[in-house]
Amino acid sequence: MNKIAPHYDNNNILVTSPLLPPLEEFIPYLERIWQSKYLTNGGPYHQALEAALADYLGVKHICLFSNGTLALMTALQALRVGGEVITTPYSFVATSHSLLWNGIKPVFVDIDPVTCNLDPKKIEAAITPQTSAIMPVHCYGLPCETEEIQRIADTYGLRVIYDAAHAFAVKRNGVSILNHGDLSVLSFHATKVFNTFEGGAIICPDEKIKRRIDYLKNFGFADETTVVAAGINGKMSEFQAAFGMLQLKHVDDAFATRQRIYERYCDALGSVPGLTLLAPDEQTDWNYAYCPVFIHPEHFPLTRDQLYQKMKDAGIYARRYFFPLISEFPMYKGYPSSSSDNLPNASQTSQRVLCLPVHPTLSDAEQQRIVDIVLEAGQIAAA
Ligand SMILES: *Cc1c(COP(=O)(O)O)cnc(C)c1O
Repeated sequence: MNKIAPHYDNNNILVTSPLLPPLEEFIPYLERIWQSKYLTNGGPYHQALEAALADYLGVKHICLFSNGTLALMTALQALRVGGEVITTPYSFVATSHSLLWNGIKPVFVDIDPVTCNLDPKKIEAAITPQTSAIMPVHCYGLPCETEEIQRIADTYGLRVIYDAAHAFAVKRNGVSILNHGDLSVLSFHATKVFNTFEGGAIICPDEKIKRRIDYLKNFGFADETTVVAAGINGKMSEFQAAFGMLQLKHVDDAFATRQRIYERYCDALGSVPGLTLLAPDEQTDWNYAYCPVFIHPEHFPLTRDQLYQKMKDAGIYARRYFFPLISEFPMYKGYPSSSSDNLPNASQTSQRVLCLPVHPTLSDAEQQRIVDIVLEAGQIAAA
């Protein structure tokens, strides 16, 4: 039986196939690395990718990193964030881990059940004298309510760092959403829409903060004998940057394919009782990074976990992004804000969500097989 989604994620679970251009296209890039002898430390491909991505994404400055988690950790250092940070429990665990690694206490605030993003109406009640920042996530690449979040941040003097790991190339009203807040952080992990195997970046609004972040990701070195901060090693290598340059040539085609797949899922499953799909609003140019389906147990014959298992038995690896909630992991569940009473929408969404395979190499026949399994599951009650 054909397994759908032939790629391994962090838990060695088969998940979405990465965007992987033909190997022969990468060989000339490798030859140039061998010729230049620059393997890392801001070599020619690193510089080229920073410039190319700033242009492609429509942002001012970008600092490349070896992965998104180190970029999140460094973004917090760069803005000297401490104390408490308000964040969402409905995300990948690295969002909150970046806070713990900086000795910061995460304060979880519930999500909006429709957008799956931090609910701005609930932020103010969670602010204390220790609060220094808000770390929202553009979940599934759908934009947060950035204006409302900025208004709250301005009122209380807070920093805003967006975990934009899902939001590569997303625009609202034709403008990149990566320009909101003080900083935005991207991930280029193999499972993301644009990948450099491992990789990440911080989007920064000006040259000054870029310079500070560039020091921080290189041990704090300002020159041969000057160390200006307790930096870390977060540098992206030339190998990763070269692969990023090649990816950029293919990413628009990949978005077009993803959009077609997403629209086919909507056509096939959008009117099935008990299922809802996420949809971008009119202002949003989305990247179709994920295709979450929400299973409403009152109206669908199978629970989310039963459907998940049924698909798995058929060799189809849908993912429960995000289950469990971050606030349910042992290092977080002792915080008062982690109680499920504080997070009713996140708790419910986490029980209902199933992300269907969506990747540029998914064939029509494979997608039809996925659709058929979901439709068959939905008909059990109707029959
Ligand atoms: C992937 C991801 C990260 C971590 O990025 P890495 O590059 O894997 O370190 C952080 N936050 C979110 C929301 C993610 O999806």
